Amino acid sequence: MDIKENYTAIKNQLPAGVQLVAVSKTHPAEAVQEVYDLGQKVFGENKVQELMEKYPLLPKDIQWHLIGHLQTNKVKYIAPFIDTIQSVDSEKLLAEISKEAGKSSRTIKVLLQVKIAEEETKFGLETAEAKSLFQEYIDGKFPHAEITGLMGMATFTDDKEQVKREFLLLKGLFDELNQLKTLETLSMGMSDDFPAAIECGANSVRVGSAIFGRRDYSK
Ligand SMILES: *Cc1c(COP(=O)(O)O)cnc(C)c1O
Repeated sequence: MDIKENYTAIKNQLPAGVQLVAVSKTHPAEAVQEVYDLGQKVFGENKVQELMEKYPLLPKDIQWHLIGHLQTNKVKYIAPFIDTIQSVDSEKLLAEISKEAGKSSRTIKVLLQVKIAEEETKFGLETAEAKSLFQEYIDGKFPHAEITGLMGMATFTDDKEQVKREFLLLKGLFDELNQLKTLETLSMGMSDDFPAAIECGANSVRVGSAIFGRRDYSK
């Protein structure tokens, strides 16, 4: 299958109202351009350096999402143009995003990344931390950041019930926070588990290898 067939097949599987973030990490700008030319405007990258290399080569109306762990000292590089930072996992990072967005006279959309996987994972907020950070946000602490939703990654496992349990956990938190202030985006699901994520309430999925093919990390 080539990129065009892959992309079309994925698009055909997404119900109306579910956003596709095409995850282009490790793939060259030409591959991004190919998918852009098919009508895709939202792309995800997980590393600042790689994003900074591709950004100048590609159309300016692409909405870039950062989906990987972000160090506070790198926020300044992407603040002038990033559409959404999906991987906010600390108060310090959220404060820095708000500060740098302010310097660029912008508001940056962010998702709180919440730990839902039963397996040990390095990044993501505990549920309680996410709640208290959201409350600080409601209280006006991060004026140039807009929390538009939540992001989570399920355990990498063949156990479909476990994956669903984890997704439903995040859906529950989403519904709870949504009572306090309206949220738009529940980002969960990748190439292998996006249908399950959608069943569990995701309205945004992050799909990489099912569009662009397998990643080669040896280069
Ligand atoms: C790489 C990545 C994806 C996409 O993974 P695929 O399995 O290639 O679809 C989604 N979300 C995050 C956070 C990623 O790092």
